[in-house]
Amino acid sequence: MWPLPARKTCPEYCKKICWKNCFAWKAERIWPDVKLHRAVNYHLASTAPKLMIELNVRQMRRSKLEVYRPHPAGDFFNNQYIRSWATIAKEFPEKTFYTMTKALPVLNFKPLLKLDNFNLIDSMIDGHVNFGNAEHIHMLQEEYGAFLCPASVDKKKFCNVDCTYCHTNSTPAFLQH
Ligand code: SF4
Repeated sequence: MWPLPARKTCPEYCKKICWKNCFAWKAERIWPDVKLHRAVNYHLASTAPKLMIELNVRQMRRSKLEVYRPHPAGDFFNNQYIRSWATIAKEFPEKTFYTMTKALPVLNFKPLLKLDNFNLIDSMIDGHVNFGNAEHIHMLQEEYGAFLCPASVDKKKFCNVDCTYCHTNSTPAFLQH
């Protein structure tokens, strides 16, 4: 995985809708190592994309994982970074890639959208953010058929172990605590 800094890599419009409740930002404030790791990843991805691609390709060649989530924190921050992940995903047609983004309205995702092995999930569901309290989640389920992430409601449920919904589907929704 290649986690990136929250806020710094997120689209500007996120300020109004999710900065206040961002779990990824909280992790950076609590754990300095997390902040440093993400900052290094961002620096490499933005200033040395070829090296970032090489590092990820080498790591994935060694890995037996069949499913890969590029950045569990942060977001696509420019078109070069999108192309970098398209290059990586093309190297591994046998693996599945998935990730969420709020940057669909502001960047060019064509390089990823045309790949069969990359599931790009829009974190905005018809203008509504895909996490929130029980009332918000209920609305997303009723109005848009959203799927409630089991790991967000039960600490004993583990992503990629008990649930693989996001590997191939859209519109997951996350209960905020
Ligand atoms: S819906 Fe399933 S696959 Fe998606 S984040 Fe939640 S536990 Fe993971």
